Amino acid sequence: MRVTEPILAVVVIALAAFVATQSTVYSGNVESAQSGTIAAVVPAEGDPDMTAPRGTLNAGRATGRVAPRTEYVLDIPRDAPLPPSDMRRRIAAGASGTYMSQLLLARDSVLTRWPDRLLTPLRVWVGDGGMHEGWDTLFPTLVRDAFDEWSQSGVPVRFTYVRDSSSADVRVRFVQGFSEGISGRTIWSRDSAWWLVGANIELALTHAGGTRVTRDQMSAIALHEVGHLLGLDHVDDPSHIMAPRVRVRTLSEADRATVRLLYSVPAGSLR
Ligand SMILES: [Zn+2]
Repeated sequence: MRVTEPILAVVVIALAAFVATQSTVYSGNVESAQSGTIAAVVPAEGDPDMTAPRGTLNAGRATGRVAPRTEYVLDIPRDAPLPPSDMRRRIAAGASGTYMSQLLLARDSVLTRWPDRLLTPLRVWVGDGGMHEGWDTLFPTLVRDAFDEWSQSGVPVRFTYVRDSSSADVRVRFVQGFSEGISGRTIWSRDSAWWLVGANIELALTHAGGTRVTRDQMSAIALHEVGHLLGLDHVDDPSHIMAPRVRVRTLSEADRATVRLLYSVPAGSLR
């Protein structure tokens, strides 16, 4: 566990090094860089019919990978790890009203999250999809609103929006569509102590059947993918934004409570 002293100069230098490495990493084939350590390569779930009567949206499962060591040597300060018994005690004490038990099942009892980013907000770059069919100039605003809605749920993470993708911690790209019958996908990377260090989100403009993604649907899928970005996984109950087939359009109280509980402990294993 490396802990960098929170001296501003150090942090600034660290960020520069971090970003340089990130852009190198992401210029490669991120899809093939998934880790086998985290329940990583999970196929997208079933129903490719995006125009289902109930407005169901199929969201892609988040996948993760271990970042190369150079990515996290110099980075934002992190909380010290907690012994698994302390992690279990804290999680159990706050589990009421959350779907933390399903998150732990999905992630093999390991919690991944970002280090606190209140003082140095996560830098988010949202791309332009103007070259694609179905583009709506309001989409970037809807995506930023989704980030901000999560940020206001009580997590110690703030977001700032940058114009240069090479200086971003999180990159959001609009794509025409996915062949797997999904509408969004998040791929994050983490360090060896389970702290998240970077993420790419892709959002589709057309569903598998060819119909265009509406503004409501874009908002919902963006909320779902930002939930993955923060460290959440899928929950069976469709009344939450983190259901694999998204039916709701806003965060539920359990969505908020679960992410708050996740951020009440350091990243790490409960086993
Ligand atoms: Zn998902």
